Amino acid sequence: MTAFADLTSPQVAELLSGTRTPVLLLPVGAVEPHGPHGPLGTDEVISAGMCGRAAERLSGDPDVRVLVLPTLNYGVTRMGAAFPGAVTVSESTLHALVTEVCGALVAQGFTRIVVVNNHFEPAHVTTLRKAAAEAGVTYLDLVRRHNAARLTEEFRSGSCHAGRYETSLVLADRPDLVDTDTAATLPPVPVDLPAAMAEGKADFVAMGMDRAYCGDPAGASVAEGQSTFDTLTDLLVETIRGVA
Ligand SMILES: [Zn+2]
Repeated sequence: MTAFADLTSPQVAELLSGTRTPVLLLPVGAVEPHGPHGPLGTDEVISAGMCGRAAERLSGDPDVRVLVLPTLNYGVTRMGAAFPGAVTVSESTLHALVTEVCGALVAQGFTRIVVVNNHFEPAHVTTLRKAAAEAGVTYLDLVRRHNAARLTEEFRSGSCHAGRYETSLVLADRPDLVDTDTAATLPPVPVDLPAAMAEGKADFVAMGMDRAYCGDPAGASVAEGQSTFDTLTDLLVETIRGVA
């Protein structure tokens, strides 16, 4: 069993008094358009997918006990506001949710918590970094250079919204959620998202993403998704070892 919310209260008490160090993972997603082919919940599928894999990989570990918290599935997501289905919350709401959820757990003795996020809109990432620091927990920062260097070329290029990288990950976990017929018809849309944002472009349409994707979704595959999940799981397991 790796889901925190599946435990009973006495089982949580046992966790705290056991010999294995408990580490809790908080997956964070967003509800926003991911092209005409991918689900709004793409980022949640990726965050929960890597957390579940890390917990599974460490399930028999003698030193740590990893449990996955319920996903925090709303984020700061304004860039896709022109498209149906984008649901944003404010920075203050996200900050409060993260600090209060982590604070409630820390107060009970769960001092080792890793926030795992796969929605990379700068306002969202900045809020999570601040909230994790304030709560005294760890934020696995996938866009930092040393982490990004281990991910795919498309991810590193910054052209990574609903393209080959993200679509492959969803295909590996929830193939039923990808419209593969539509994805196969989509031409590559190379956009350097960090550069476009640095130029002051504030939404997908201004960045030339008139169908809410960039990169190359037609190039996505289950094999790439599985391989990327392996790497994301490696990164997360290393982080867990670092905090335990
Ligand atoms: Zn995404």
